Amino acid sequence: MDEMDFEDRIVSTSEIPEDISGSDNPLRPKTLDEYIGQDKVKENLKVFIEAAKQRGEILDHVLLYGPPGLGKTTLSQIIANELNVNIRITSGPAIEKPGDLAALLTNLSSGDVLFIDEIHRISRAVEEILYPSMEDFAIDIITGKGQMAASYHLPLPKFTLVGATTRAGQLTAPLRDRFGVVLRLELYSPEELAKIVTRSAGILGIPIDNDGALEIASRSRGTPRIANRLLRRVRDFAQVMGDGVINCDIARSALDKLEIDELGLDANDRRMLHAIIKFYNGGPVGLETLAAAIGEEAVTIEDVYEPYLMQIGFLSRTPRGRCITLAACHHLGVGYPKGMTVAEPTLFSSLNDDQE
Ligand code: ADP
Repeated sequence: MDEMDFEDRIVSTSEIPEDISGSDNPLRPKTLDEYIGQDKVKENLKVFIEAAKQRGEILDHVLLYGPPGLGKTTLSQIIANELNVNIRITSGPAIEKPGDLAALLTNLSSGDVLFIDEIHRISRAVEEILYPSMEDFAIDIITGKGQMAASYHLPLPKFTLVGATTRAGQLTAPLRDRFGVVLRLELYSPEELAKIVTRSAGILGIPIDNDGALEIASRSRGTPRIANRLLRRVRDFAQVMGDGVINCDIARSALDKLEIDELGLDANDRRMLHAIIKFYNGGPVGLETLAAAIGEEAVTIEDVYEPYLMQIGFLSRTPRGRCITLAACHHLGVGYPKGMTVAEPTLFSSLNDDQE
């Protein structure tokens, strides 16, 4: 079995130092107009931002959800930028105690954006003080114990919370209900990703033609973070093996060498698909069982492998588990498992679906 950790994969969607995180990332678009794709999300946000600005009010709390690497952090910075306010960035696991959140909130200025990444991972205790702060812009702090206990009502500046999560289904209902704006990010089309690759190449000074950009785009699993990463890797090949310009041939041979196939699948995707065929006769197989069989975390399978495999119709989620599709068998060059119930991808799989 291939023991390569998912984090080591070139098509991993998690951020690595090379991606240059934070607001210094030159590849991050700064305005809604620069932000490519996600047209529905952009249209809605434009209206809400404009309306809030016209009324001189703060923007309602926004929940962004979708697989990693699609641009949730980028969008939160754009929201702050378009509103002309400051942004504070944190994440669910980083806010350990209610006091940590209180400190963050009391340091905001009126109208600021507080971005909480992975908001589904905040603890119950923190969530308890998040509710009143989102609703009433105030928190009640209790100090001391027993008879010495005292409660203080602390008013907060009005702020906009932007929460990001890969799984909206894991938020508690009361928390989800406190977001006035809930937006789902979709995987990008190859054409949109090609625009992102061309834009990034321009910023990084990498010569690339349209076909080269499209070749990288179509192997990037619908994810801008992967597209930008593949662009950097292909640049190395173009520099050493060609004249530095990325065209279709160079992109194709570089990506083949990186073992990323024409659809963006790497060895780990193929291993998982083969496992479903070989060990479970094509499915259905439960998530946990599959995770144990390929030595991968169930959440990684759900957040990272599945959205794209379902998007391209290779995998379907049925009420009884995961099933392989005919298209996947064709792609892998294997026969459809005998006696298997044919899973109709359009019936069961839905993109970025949070439900089991
Ligand atoms: P997430 O927070 O959803 O994991 P990020 O906002 O960190 O994703 O985006 C990952 C990278 O992809 C960013 O560095 C940014 O440069 C790029 N990116 C994301 N969305 C877009 C977009 N719509 N247009 C251009 N670049 C994008």
